[in-house]
Amino acid sequence: MGRVIAWLARTGSPPENMNIAIVGGGIGGLATALALIQAGFTVTVYERSAELVDQGAGITLAPNATRVLYHLGLGPQLEETSVTPPQTEYRHYRTGAVIMRMMTRNFLQMYGAPYMRLHRWDLQHAMITRLTEVAPGALRLGASVEQVEPRGERVALKFADGGEVTVDVVIAADGIRSAIREALFHPAPPVFAGFVAWRGLVDTAVLPPHLCESAVAFGQGRHINRYLVRRGELLNFIAVAHRDKWEAEGWMIPAPLDEFLAEFASFDEGTRTVISRPVRGQVYKWGLFGRPWLERWSSGRVVLLGDAAHPMLPFLGQGAANALEDAMILTRCLVAESTPERAFALYQQTRAPKVRAATEQAAQRGHRYLGEPNADSLKGNEPGAEYAYDAVAGPLGG
Ligand SMILES: Cc1cc2nc3c(=O)[nH]c(=O)nc-3n(C[C@H](O)[C@H](O)[C@H](O)COP(=O)(O)OP(=O)(O)OC[C@H]3O[C@@H](n4cnc5c(N)ncnc54)[C@H](O)[C@@H]3O)c2cc1C
Repeated sequence: MGRVIAWLARTGSPPENMNIAIVGGGIGGLATALALIQAGFTVTVYERSAELVDQGAGITLAPNATRVLYHLGLGPQLEETSVTPPQTEYRHYRTGAVIMRMMTRNFLQMYGAPYMRLHRWDLQHAMITRLTEVAPGALRLGASVEQVEPRGERVALKFADGGEVTVDVVIAADGIRSAIREALFHPAPPVFAGFVAWRGLVDTAVLPPHLCESAVAFGQGRHINRYLVRRGELLNFIAVAHRDKWEAEGWMIPAPLDEFLAEFASFDEGTRTVISRPVRGQVYKWGLFGRPWLERWSSGRVVLLGDAAHPMLPFLGQGAANALEDAMILTRCLVAESTPERAFALYQQTRAPKVRAATEQAAQRGHRYLGEPNADSLKGNEPGAEYAYDAVAGPLGG
């Protein structure tokens, strides 16, 4: 309520009079909707998928990410299904020898927010349930935005089915292949980053207990990260290998299991046992892509957020975390400033240095993983300053 009064005093009109469209119902778009609604704004999320489906993958949420999710009221649901491992071991791919340990159970005391491992669907489901509770009808599925047309202080969105809406502000959270970014900001497509990834989920009931753990095995330009999700009922793995080229698009491409296992045949027996038992024998593969750094994330009343603004390689486990931080900071900037344009400038000023550093760090880590597996190649894997970043109450501005 205090925020609404402050907004009224500055702008003379209540925030719900500003009509905001969010394009994309991924982690960034849903978090932005929840944060804006919490601050009193009127929001509609347009998501192109006709239904949101379980994509069979896990996600790591560091304290800087969970801090935002707790603020949005999602803590209790996430606690029901997440796993906080006591530690993650980094091991030599062939011998299994431990090279480094990251202790994670004490992160709540260290950073004021926990470290969580989740099934992506459990996170998405918690966010959608909350959005449906606080703003029934705010999420429109099967709404694919084809065109964005600035019209003075308004913006028109044109949909694939021929429909059109005109709004005050558009937040483009349409992911790494953002069509809005390409239309209004930078016309070039994403660039292949030189890595291919495979993922799968294993029912822990079919694994020996000592393999149901958090561990990363790496060497020979490859690595496999595995961790428990969904109350420990499933183990998620992501395997990455270096490649010179990649042509397929999308991240639901089924991969033949024998081809995948052959790629990682030199790994230690425990790791091979885990990856040989995915649920229904199903493994998916996809190429990792990046984009050049974008100096400006807004144009008039349109602003980019999450992967649409700044995709980063997954080696830091911070892509979704940065989308969640964007959601919180952009909301606070819209509350703090008298016009969307001023808010977007403050948002960019607050976020760009932090996000750029994370993007560069993620790329460097990927390249270090290509080298010999030793303490040197793991430098920088210790918890960093990013875990302490406070998007909820930290300062705005540079
Ligand atoms: C292998 C891998 C592992 C990762 N692991 C982690 C991790 O452990 N921790 C972490 O923090 N991050 C991780 N990430 C990164 C994280 O998944 C992304 O950064 C995050 O999902 C970005 O969220 P987003 O909302 O910006 O984009 P997305 O999640 O891609 O959402 C974009 C949404 O927009 C919709 N959309 C697209 N175009 C249109 C349109 N024209 N009209 C309407 N809707 C549209 C899409 O359907 C989609 O729902 C990982 C990424 C990869 C590839």
